[in-house]
Formats: sequence, C-alpha cells, structure tokens
Amino acid sequence: MIAARRAVADHARGFLPDDEAMALHRAATSVAGPILEVGAYCGKSAVWLGDAAEGRTVVFSVDHHRGSEENQAGWEHHDPTLVDPVVGLMDTLPFFRQTIFDAGLEATVVAVVGPSATVARWWATPLGFLFIDGGHGVEPARADYLGWTPHVAVGGLLAIHDVYPDPSEGGRPPYEEIYRPALASGQFEEDVALSCRSLRVLRRVQTAPAVLRCAT
Ligand code: SAH
Ligand code: MG
Repeated sequence: MIAARRAVADHARGFLPDDEAMALHRAATSVAGPILEVGAYCGKSAVWLGDAAEGRTVVFSVDHHRGSEENQAGWEHHDPTLVDPVVGLMDTLPFFRQTIFDAGLEATVVAVVGPSATVARWWATPLGFLFIDGGHGVEPARADYLGWTPHVAVGGLLAIHDVYPDPSEGGRPPYEEIYRPALASGQFEEDVALSCRSLRVLRRVQTAPAVLRCAT
C-alpha cells in the first residue's frame, strides 16, 4: 500500500494494529470474489481491504454506524467526538466517508448502512472474503456467525478479529461464538500462515457429499 494511503489508514480512529492490518491485506489479496466486512467504524480496516481489492473486486462495509456496546457513553472505548449532537447517538458514518474519500477508494469501498443481522438476512452474493469485526457481545457475535458465514464461497476466506483463546487477553465472544463454531462445523479450517495474533483466517473447505443409503 502506498505511503499516502497508509497515512490515511493510520489517521483513522480504530482498533486494528499494524501487523494485523497487514495480515488482513495479505489474506484479502490472496482470494478472488467480493470482499465484505462487518464493522466499519471510521474506515481503517476498509482502507486496507480497499487497497487489496482496488481494480480487481469490491468491498462492502456493513455497519449501522451507531457504535458497539463498548463504544457507548460511559464505556471503555467511547470517543465523545463521534457523537452526533442533534441525534444524541454515535455516528461514525461521516468519519468513515472522509477516510474512504481521503484514501481515494470511493469507487472500490461501498458502505452498507444498517444492522448487520438485517443485511445478512437479505444478502445473496457469495463472498470470496468475509471479515467479521462487528459487535463483540455474545448475541451480536453469534448473529454474525449464523448470518454471514454461510455466504463465504467454498475456497473463500473468513477472517475474524479479536480472537482471544486466553480470557486474560480479551473478551471471548469472537473466539467462542465465531472462531470455535466455524472450526467445529467442519466447514472451515484455519490457514495459520495467514493468521496473525488476534486476527484468525479460516478457509471454507468443500464438505463431503452426503452418502445416500438405500433401505434394503
Ligand atoms: N473494522 C473496524 C473497527 C470496527 S469496530 C476497523 O478496524 O477500523 C466495530 C463496529 O461494529 C462499530 O463501528 C459498530 O457500530 C459496529 N457494529 C456493532 N454491532 C453492530 C450491528 N449489530 N450491526 C451493524 N454494525 C454493528
Ligand atoms: Mg476489532
């Protein structure tokens, strides 16, 4: 990624360390087909994904832009400068748009504004790359697993952020409600060469065809 675009990503508020951002870019570059992220915030990961997609495919970035639980007033990751004073709620969409504009990625990165579960319910396009970094509570993480992972094409990748097998390192829902069920389903296998710390990258594998038995 060129330095000017990298500077835009660095300037965007967000919780994606450099090494994980570069791993995300590497993984997204390695597959064909549309890219979709759940959790846009101020556009940091969208710039990295957009750079990987540019001239080749598209990035859909899904977010209601009202912030996760931990972004709300009184919580650990609240940023009061992101509150819309008229509505009285968070609104990260203007910041997201500015980031994508500054990065020169408006033709590649498409914002989809709304609740993740609603968009997932009506989604129909198979995905080459799915990045889940939305709500980190049990319910939103479970809904993102159930709603989005069926849309990953066979051979496509599922990247999950903030996967902490050790509870002392961070909250567990991305690990317990997305990473573990995906592996346990037999539909995904981790590509450890693409994973980096809390960013885990899984590949959708062909599931064995059901064996039909004839009653005798
Ligand atoms: N991927 C971003 C960070 C995302 S932060 C980056 O690296 O820069 C998590 C985002 O998920 C927040 O912006 C929040 O608004 C969004 N979010 C949380 N729950 C959601 C839901 N149920 N539907 C849509 N967006 C949601
Ligand atoms: Mg994250």
